[in-house]
Amino acid sequence: MAHPVGGVDYPRTFQELLEWFPDDAACLAYLERLRWPDGFICPVCRAAGGWRTVKARWMCTSCGRQTSVTAGTIFHRIRTPLSTWFAAIWFITSQKNEMSAQGLQRVLGFGSYETAWAWMQKLRRAMVRPERELLSGVVELDEVFVGNESRGKAGGVKDNCAAMIAVESLGGRKLGRVRIEVAQKARSADLVAFADRVIAKESLIKTDGARHLRKLSTMGFEHQFFIGLDAAEPAHVSLPGVHMVGSLLKRWLTGTMHYAVTQEHLGYYLDEYTFRFNRRTSKSRGLLFYRLLQQAVETDPHPLAELRNPVAPFDVSF
Ligand SMILES: [Zn+2]
Repeated sequence: MAHPVGGVDYPRTFQELLEWFPDDAACLAYLERLRWPDGFICPVCRAAGGWRTVKARWMCTSCGRQTSVTAGTIFHRIRTPLSTWFAAIWFITSQKNEMSAQGLQRVLGFGSYETAWAWMQKLRRAMVRPERELLSGVVELDEVFVGNESRGKAGGVKDNCAAMIAVESLGGRKLGRVRIEVAQKARSADLVAFADRVIAKESLIKTDGARHLRKLSTMGFEHQFFIGLDAAEPAHVSLPGVHMVGSLLKRWLTGTMHYAVTQEHLGYYLDEYTFRFNRRTSKSRGLLFYRLLQQAVETDPHPLAELRNPVAPFDVSF
């Protein structure tokens, strides 16, 4: 569906949300439409065609296996009603800048902060699509340190972490889409591998003069670098986009974190920031609700991000 329409494909207001999704059956039907827009496809054998059983499961015509629309998605085996999840997604996407776990706990009336926190972590995993489109055109690339900004235990990032940022420069001060990831090791080949993952070939990549980045020109990219950034010409002059994103990101992390972020979890916050930044001009908050749900049914319950960050203080079994 290329252009989803408000009031037809997604609710435009909280009132419409309540009317559309009074119970789990309505939520399941909506998820089916998002996950299988052209009809049921068996997640086991990949064949098309099946029928709905009385227990709201799907029976595959080819292999005879039964499945549900939530199986293999972030809603796999959840115990809370889907309508509550839909409300959580509505609240999270309708806030322009952030929804804290405390805020979510308050509006949904959860008994524990940990539950709200785990929901937020789970939804953050769905915020950046696994097979997302590549950045293209003119792309600025650099690393920005986001650690050591913390206000003690109250918030901010605990460790000194480097975030790799790639942002499309559209001329003037205009910026396009962004990709941000945690660097496992700063000033390393990580940044080259990151560029290779997120930027389309033949794009023009602008960086500082670091030697390990010169390789980019042999990898199918056009590469322009600026030498002596640290001295005569600071990075914010030659790479204004990436440094604007970096300072906005730092402010967002420090301002929104009511809980110190450890390096293990920073990736999830970067995904949320990316989701919000790339949709900053979207006029319809309902469309964000739609996009996040659409990505949620495409997101594996155990994505790569989890393997990358295996340590979680609260396990996500609910
Ligand atoms: Zn099948």
